[in-house]
Amino acid sequence: MSETKSQAQLLKEQLFYKAQNTYNALSDEDISAAYDYAEGYKKYLDAGKIERECVKESIKMLEADGFTPYTFGMPVTAGGKYYYNNRGKGLSAFVIGTESIENGVYFAASHIDSPRVDLKAHPLYEADGLGYLKTHYYGGIKKYQWTAIPLALHGSVVKADGSVVDIVIGEDDSDPVFYIDDLLPHLAADQMKKPMKDAIAGEQLNILSGSKPFERNLPEGVKLNIMKILYDKYGMTEADFISAEIAAVPTFKARDVGFDRSLIGSYGHDDRVCAYPSLTALMAVKNPQHTIMAILADKEEVGSDGNTGMQSVMYFDVINDLARTFGVSDIVVRANSKCLSSDVNAAFDPNFPEVSERRNSCFVNNGVVITKYTGAKGKSGTNDASAEFAGYIRNLLDAKGIVWQTSELGKIDQGGGGTVAKYIAKHNIDVIDLGVPVLSMHAPYEVVSKTDVYMVHKALVAFFGA
Ligand code: MN
Ligand code: MN
Repeated sequence: MSETKSQAQLLKEQLFYKAQNTYNALSDEDISAAYDYAEGYKKYLDAGKIERECVKESIKMLEADGFTPYTFGMPVTAGGKYYYNNRGKGLSAFVIGTESIENGVYFAASHIDSPRVDLKAHPLYEADGLGYLKTHYYGGIKKYQWTAIPLALHGSVVKADGSVVDIVIGEDDSDPVFYIDDLLPHLAADQMKKPMKDAIAGEQLNILSGSKPFERNLPEGVKLNIMKILYDKYGMTEADFISAEIAAVPTFKARDVGFDRSLIGSYGHDDRVCAYPSLTALMAVKNPQHTIMAILADKEEVGSDGNTGMQSVMYFDVINDLARTFGVSDIVVRANSKCLSSDVNAAFDPNFPEVSERRNSCFVNNGVVITKYTGAKGKSGTNDASAEFAGYIRNLLDAKGIVWQTSELGKIDQGGGGTVAKYIAKHNIDVIDLGVPVLSMHAPYEVVSKTDVYMVHKALVAFFGA
C-alpha cells in the first residue's frame, strides 16, 4: 500500500532537523562492529587507570603497529609512524602524510588523566589504632561518591637512590584494597543536614590502610608495620612518598551495563573514551594525505597546566619541529592545521532533566557529539569553534554516514566546564570539541554507549583520512 506524503510532510522532512539514533541509523554490521570494538576499549580501560599507565599501554599498541620513538630534530619520511613520549604522562603519536606538511597537521587531542584521589607528600599516619593515608583529591569530584567503595593504589615512587618503582595494589583479585570510611546513617543526623558538597570534607578523604601493629604495645605500631611492608616489597621509606605520585582509583573493572549489554560502565571514560579511538583511528588510516596526529594529554582535569598538560608548548614543539625538518614555516603549518578536541560531554539524564535544556543536549546512542562551545556564565572561557569549521566537520561526518549530534554542557548558568580546545585554538589552529555523551561523568563509575564510542572511532578515521 503506498501512501502519498502531504506537501507539509515533505517540507518538514526537507527543512526540519531530526536527531538520529544509532540503533535506527546504523546497519546491523555497524552495530555488531561497535560491540566488537567495545571489547578492545574495555581492555584499554582496565590496563590504564592513570595517565602513566595509559601512556605505557598506548605505546604498546603503537609499537605493535610499527610506530617508533621520535626525538626532536630526527629525520622523518612520508608514511613514517612515530610517537613522542612526554615524561611518561603525555603522548603525541603521528603519521607523516604523503603531501607537504605545509598543508597542516590534522590532529585529535584527548586527555588520559581522570578525577581521583592523590596521596599527599606525608600521607601515612596512625589514629586510634588504624593506619590512614592523607589525600588531596584531583579534579572535580563529588567527594561523597568516593567513600565506602574499594580503591586501588596506582603510581610511581622515586626512591632516595633515584630508582623508580611502579605500584599497583588492589587490581588483582588476590590483592588487598583500600577504603575511605563514611558515617553510618544512625549517627549521621548532622551530616545528613549538610549541603552535599560539605557532607564529606576534603580532609576527611583519608584512606584506611591497616590496623595490625608491628609488635605488641608499640606506639605507632600500625604505621610502622605498614612502613615495614612497603619497605620489604618496594624498598621505600616514608621520605620516598615526597617524590612519589600515587593515586587512589576505584578497583572497578569495565563491564557491560544493561540486559542488552549496550552500555559500558567504567572508571575514567572521561577521557579515555576519546583517547582510545584516537589511537585506533590513527592506526586505521593508511598512508594519510595530511600528517595526522593523536595527542594524549595529562592534567586536563586540573586545568591543563604543567609541562604534561595541553597548555605545555611541548605538544606544539612536535608540530613546529616537523615543520622545521621539512623546511616549512611552523607558522604556516599551524595556520593550516585542524584539530578535534576529543572530549566527553554530559549526556541528557532522564533522572535529572532539570539541569539540561533538552533541545540542546546530547543523548546516549545519538552518536558522536559535536560541542561548538563549552564555558560558563555567558560563554566565558571557551574556544567557540567558527561556523566555518563546524560546517566542515558536519559535512565530513554526513559524507561518511557517521551518526552525530550537537550539544551544550547543560542549561545556561547551571554550571559549565571546559576542555583543551581553547589551549589549542590560541596557537592559530581551527578546533572543535567532538566526543561521547557520558552518564554520571566524574563519578567513580561512569557510563557510555557502545555505538557512540564506535562513532568516535569512525569520526576520527574520517577526519584523519580527509
Ligand atoms: Mn574530559
Ligand atoms: Mn573531565
